[in-house]
Order: sequence, then structure tokens, then C-alpha cells
Amino acid sequence: MDMEDFSSFLLGVVIIAGLFLLLREFWCWFWKINEIKDLTIANGKKFDKMNQTLSDILDSNVEISNRTSGLIKSKCKKCAGSISVNDKYCQYCGEEVNQ
Ligand SMILES: [Zn+2]
Repeated sequence: MDMEDFSSFLLGVVIIAGLFLLLREFWCWFWKINEIKDLTIANGKKFDKMNQTLSDILDSNVEISNRTSGLIKSKCKKCAGSISVNDKYCQYCGEEVNQ
């Protein structure tokens, strides 16, 4: 292999690599793969947050079942259910309580 063959080989590799990157970018855009990836990541984050909220609600319900009825303080703005002093969420509708 002499010098000229080697440089045309290098040029071929560079062109094929550039073409590959361009086509990759095109197909990712065409099939909305980038968009799907972003949405999947966003959904995963929302799902994690939802799981956290659910376990908070479950924890707060366990506290409610261990409590006596004398602690009821106010009513839920959304469903008018009774809310205890230490509740973070309404035990009937799951609405977050601000007190
Ligand atoms: Zn409620």
C-alpha cells in the first residue's frame, strides 16, 4: 500500500463516518427518536414523583389508623372530609392539605 492509496482510504473512512453521522441525525429526527427519548425520561421522572406521593399518602393513612378520633381539626376543601392535625393529605380524596 503506497501513500496515495492510504490517503484515499483515510478520505473514504472520513466520508463514510460523516455520512453515517448525518444519516443517523436524519433518522433520529424522522422517526422522532430524540423526542421519544426525552418524553420517556420525563415520564420516568413523573412516575417516580407519583410513587413518592403515593407512599407519602400510604404512610399518612397508617398514621390515621393508629390515631384516636379526638384530633380531627378541619375539613378538606375539596371533599369536606375530616382532616386531623398531623395530616399531609386528605384520607378520602388524597388532596394535599395546607395547614
Ligand atoms: Zn378530601
